[in-house]
Amino acid sequence: MDKVSAGYDQLMRFWLDTAPARGVVVRLEESLTQAMQHHDYPEAVVALLRQLAGAAALLASNLKQSAQVILQAQGTGDVPLLCVEATDALTFRLYASVREGAILTSDASLEAMVGPDGNGRFVLTIAPTEGQPYQGIVALSRKNEDGETINGSVAHLLEDYLSNSQQTDTRMWLRQDGDVMEAMLLERLPDSADDATPAWDAVVAQADQTFSEHFMPFPYSEWLQFTFAQHTVRVSPAQAVKFSCSCSMERVLNALKLVGEAELQPLIEDEGKIATRCEFCGKAYEVSAASFAELFRRNDALHPPGSQLLQ
Ligand SMILES: [Zn+2]
Repeated sequence: MDKVSAGYDQLMRFWLDTAPARGVVVRLEESLTQAMQHHDYPEAVVALLRQLAGAAALLASNLKQSAQVILQAQGTGDVPLLCVEATDALTFRLYASVREGAILTSDASLEAMVGPDGNGRFVLTIAPTEGQPYQGIVALSRKNEDGETINGSVAHLLEDYLSNSQQTDTRMWLRQDGDVMEAMLLERLPDSADDATPAWDAVVAQADQTFSEHFMPFPYSEWLQFTFAQHTVRVSPAQAVKFSCSCSMERVLNALKLVGEAELQPLIEDEGKIATRCEFCGKAYEVSAASFAELFRRNDALHPPGSQLLQ
């Protein structure tokens, strides 16, 4: 059965015709189960990866070209890296690095796990298939007006970041229930009306209330119309969201090229091959001594050693 019509793992964009707002809503379940089955992470790490996946899917739906959204939390804590990548085709993959022997409580905050020294950072990258990537970086914690440190949740970090970088109010809700992740993004649109702020505030309050009280029933179109009852809601067709890993032997070989022949040669001499595993999906790759030699011969053909000296 088609998963979209069955109601699972779908994303829908919407517009309020009579208020300055547009949004996206997404539900992930089966795709998250598939993405997680290659990993064995502590509960607190799984919870954060789910949130990042929900957020990444929302952001990926706004991509205007072939590109990836990469969300990373980086630091020196027990979880030095959390990473989710989502594409404009609404596929995603995820992984985390967790220090061996780390003991994480199930309610540990993002900052406590990733950057307990206060130096953790949250990195948002938009990487077009062609062209230069764009990157934004924010601290995992911030200070409020009273100088108190506030630990950022994934939703708050992104709300702050998007509101500042796009110069427009943005709200994000992320919630989990069992294996289900639900997420919603609301963006304020420019409006010349003097009373636009109360209209936006009212829309946010409506979203806040229903999102925190109800599990969103399908179809989303009806739920959205129910939530924003005073407005006319237009929706896009539901789109499926899927787990998919883009790893390939070609990418493995490219990565080995970057590491370099000198660094890898001892491994080939010891093992007779290079065995590696995709961090996202666990797929095993093996590069034989012959393929290894071929890889660097090809490289040499393009850039013969000493070629610059000969010129
Ligand atoms: Zn993979």
